[in-house]
Amino acid sequence: MRIDLHTHSTASDGTDTPAELVRKAAAAGLDVVALTDHDTTRGHADALAALPQGLTLVTGAELSCRLDGVSMHLLAYLFDPEEPALLAERELVRDDRVPRAQGMIAKLNELGVPVTWDQVARIAGDGSVGRPHVASALVELGVVDSVNDAFTPEWLADGGRAYMPKHETDPFEAVRLVRNAGGVAVFAHPAAVKRGRTVPESAIAELAEAGLDGIEVDHMDHDPDTRARLRGLAGELGLLVTGSSDYHGSRKTCVLGEFSTDPEVYGEITRRATGAFPVPGTGGAA
Ligand code: AMP
Ligand code: ZN
Ligand code: FE
Ligand code: FE
Repeated sequence: MRIDLHTHSTASDGTDTPAELVRKAAAAGLDVVALTDHDTTRGHADALAALPQGLTLVTGAELSCRLDGVSMHLLAYLFDPEEPALLAERELVRDDRVPRAQGMIAKLNELGVPVTWDQVARIAGDGSVGRPHVASALVELGVVDSVNDAFTPEWLADGGRAYMPKHETDPFEAVRLVRNAGGVAVFAHPAAVKRGRTVPESAIAELAEAGLDGIEVDHMDHDPDTRARLRGLAGELGLLVTGSSDYHGSRKTCVLGEFSTDPEVYGEITRRATGAFPVPGTGGAA
């Protein structure tokens, strides 16, 4: 069984539509894929409609959180998408992304970069707008060579010259909201240092106390030593260990299934979830 529990589509900052993503996941030999767009479940319906035979979809989202000034991401799986409190929080975060992107564009204009909201809005389409879309605009304008090159202090990295914060949920509140909506909460790439500051192990322990289910250990932004350390921490704290690609289509270099989750852990996630159930593909034609 090959299980990839973290991917993005055009519903946020990935480049494949949800339908393309599930087709590629099947073609890549995956048995299970989770669609976890930033702060939105909008891609789920199209993914389900196109789901190939032999591939199971885990519905999810990656929630933007902040603890003591440090941005962090919480993967939420198999929650009830209609549950009002979590739905309201997703909308709050997602809606705030628009004025925030416009603020970053204003900063870029002040720095002499002629990027416009029309350009970024075109790139984002109806996806939840984020820094990778702004980064793609900078690539189009020839300001940087790649999306990655835009994530520097000079441009869009946390605290960078054109960076602006957005509304982000307190992770203790997010864990409570996810669990209350019948979902399972996994801390995404908790030690991805290249993205900026990370939260201390003590905070992971406190989140575990507060109901966090697991941590994403096998991720491209964790080196082998970091993975070993996180695996040990998960063992001490009784947390599930996941692995996943964090696939973003052509906006990032990782490929589907590059890292994967143990079938036993996947089984435990599905046993804990009560808000939604994994959906086996029946060969959707959409
Ligand atoms: P946002 O949620 O709009 O702040 O954008 C965050 C997204 O930007 C993350 O989910 C990553 O996909 C991407 N990102 C963050 N840091 C980096 C980085 N150092 N290099 C490449 N992409 C990054
Ligand atoms: Zn992303
Ligand atoms: Fe993330
Ligand atoms: Fe992600």
